[in-house]
Amino acid sequence: MKKVVKFGGSSLASAEQFCKVGSIIHADTSRRFVVPSAPGKRFKDDTKVTDMLYACYNLAEEGKDFKKQLNEIKKRYEEIIAGLKLTLSLDEEFKKIEKDFMSKAGSNYAASRGEFLNGKIMAAYLDYAFVDPADYIFFKEDGEFDADKTNDVLGSKLQKMENAVIPGFYGSLPDGTVKTFSRGGSDITGSIVARAIHADIYENWTDVSGFLIADPRIIINPEVIETITYRELRELSYMGATVLHEDAIFPVRKEGIPINIRNTNAPDDKGTWIVESTCQKSKYVITGIAGKKGFCSINVEKDMMNSEIGFGRKVLNVFEDNGISFEHVPSGIDTLTVFVHQDEFMDKEQQVVSGIHRLAKPDTIDIEADLALIAVVGRGMKSTRGTAGRIFAALAHADVNVKMIDQGSSELNIIIGVRNDDFETAIKAIYDIFVETRI
Ligand code: ASP
Repeated sequence: MKKVVKFGGSSLASAEQFCKVGSIIHADTSRRFVVPSAPGKRFKDDTKVTDMLYACYNLAEEGKDFKKQLNEIKKRYEEIIAGLKLTLSLDEEFKKIEKDFMSKAGSNYAASRGEFLNGKIMAAYLDYAFVDPADYIFFKEDGEFDADKTNDVLGSKLQKMENAVIPGFYGSLPDGTVKTFSRGGSDITGSIVARAIHADIYENWTDVSGFLIADPRIIINPEVIETITYRELRELSYMGATVLHEDAIFPVRKEGIPINIRNTNAPDDKGTWIVESTCQKSKYVITGIAGKKGFCSINVEKDMMNSEIGFGRKVLNVFEDNGISFEHVPSGIDTLTVFVHQDEFMDKEQQVVSGIHRLAKPDTIDIEADLALIAVVGRGMKSTRGTAGRIFAALAHADVNVKMIDQGSSELNIIIGVRNDDFETAIKAIYDIFVETRI
């Protein structure tokens, strides 16, 4: 059995947290490949080392003195080293970082040092080999992640090793320059490593005991999702990103490796399993509810639209030309509605309206703002009658006006559009009907 274990920033924010991580790794000999993040927040108003590095490098780039800030960062690491009673010194590394900052090595390089240095500590602490991802994780010239090359090179390196620490978050471009993934990208590294070594499980250790059925800012103490499929998680992407980086699914999905989200501060909790497919029934008909405010709908009407070939394409072309991605496109016989993120759309709205008029020649265009979209997701829906009926009855009881309904053909999700103001009430009503009253 081979496991890749990734630890997030809060799991590695202090020596105390490192000790918890050490116990977790030592408790299971199959935890052989470790992917650390940079030290995160130790308390609520603390600053993540990654943010400190960005700020410090900004000063360097502006030609200002950054020594004090770099020293603060060094102190964070030294505190961890001292707390773990290691003899390790990072003096040489920090000298090099200072020099590289002076010669403006780039903000990606700067940010990557957070994981690099934490990886050095982790390797010393566990007595595992250190593997620098700059040599084994590759991006193409245009910045796109090079999955095939990485899988080949990283796979042949790691498969020969008994154990290793591979810092998260970065790799390199063809010219050797360090490049990072987007924020939270250590999750992606963990997934890449899991694929490369054909791991049995990718454990992603964080500070929550898994995905919750609904947002805890709206529902008090929501239950944890025990098992969720990759596809369900994609459908719930409005909520997913805070626990797991959205792109972390793709590498392991290629190999059908399950991801287990675990809590470093509650290691006995089973967490959430993210799997390709399962015959395990979810406890409730729905697996999760997630939503987001701040959408706009653009309602395009034209008599006989249904028989006009290419109408939809013309309308969507206008959004493409303006660089706006659409979220949902429900349609009626003579209407087509496009849901977009309000902040992406606002500055371009008049261009879009005139563009649609020019290209698609509709009768009217009507825009509505301040809408929220709620995704109710569950593989259980397929085999259960009346799910939609229950959702809408609950919303009617809660006095929520439904502005849009979209059920994906996979019968995995139902998307509901409501006014921003009704968002919380709607989520509570849906959670209530499926989880609290357990129907
Ligand atoms: N340290 C990086 C960040 O704060 C990457 C990560 O933690 O995954 O975004």
